[in-house]
Amino acid sequence: MALKIHHLNCGTMCPHGAPFINGHGKITDDGKMVCHCLLIESNDGLVLVDTGFGIEDVKHPHQRLGHAFVAGSRPVADYRETAYMQIKELGFNPSDVRHILVTHLDLDHAGGLVDFPQAKVHIFAPEFNAAMNPNWREKQRYKPHQWAHGVNWQTYQTQGEKWQGFDSIRAIPELKDEILLVPLVGHTRGHSGVAVNTKDGWLLHCGDAYFNHQQMAADPSCPIGLELLQYSLAASNKDRLYNTKRLQQLALSKGNEVQLFSAHDPVELARYQH
Ligand SMILES: [Zn+2]
Repeated sequence: MALKIHHLNCGTMCPHGAPFINGHGKITDDGKMVCHCLLIESNDGLVLVDTGFGIEDVKHPHQRLGHAFVAGSRPVADYRETAYMQIKELGFNPSDVRHILVTHLDLDHAGGLVDFPQAKVHIFAPEFNAAMNPNWREKQRYKPHQWAHGVNWQTYQTQGEKWQGFDSIRAIPELKDEILLVPLVGHTRGHSGVAVNTKDGWLLHCGDAYFNHQQMAADPSCPIGLELLQYSLAASNKDRLYNTKRLQQLALSKGNEVQLFSAHDPVELARYQH
């Protein structure tokens, strides 16, 4: 069964200096980053891929996300952008979200977990282990209060299955091969993409494996601010660059079968929302 997909922006961020973030505009213009999430209608209920910021985060951004993050990323903090409110707006009941897949547990991806306490949260085991036992650097990025409500975690290891040459994991056993976790480590220790089989072919939510659509071009490039951000946030730049290269090769060789997008690029989000 082909899955029906809704593309949601569950958090806009407006860091200073549009040219450094988006590659165009005046230096005095704000940049724009989104939190591109998927809402999937499946025969096992609603499925969310990533959750952006949650209701509590937009109500109390400084407290929940930290002063440094708020100062640097400048989130809009509008409750209408939360997955919870958008799901209601689409006419669904948020309590019908049965599954959530997270690309990783950074604060701009895990904030909405608390709004869906009934959901099973599917995650690549190394990411779960990193967030539950963070080293001193990782303590800055993970916010344990985003999952302090008690989460029904489902952790997975790779078991030799492959998808398009990448390791893959059947993330929701009930949905067979329709939704897969695709480990793409580097940004964090257990960062993963999520592949979804749709009526228009495969979609690969690449999370933060890259940040700008130009990184997937035949002649790749990236605005300098995002380049530095990716470098400074990476748990392993060697692994990150290796996986970015593999994704670029996938985009170039299989662009008609697999559509790739990253979590934070507004240009990629607009392709699906118009
Ligand atoms: Zn992110």
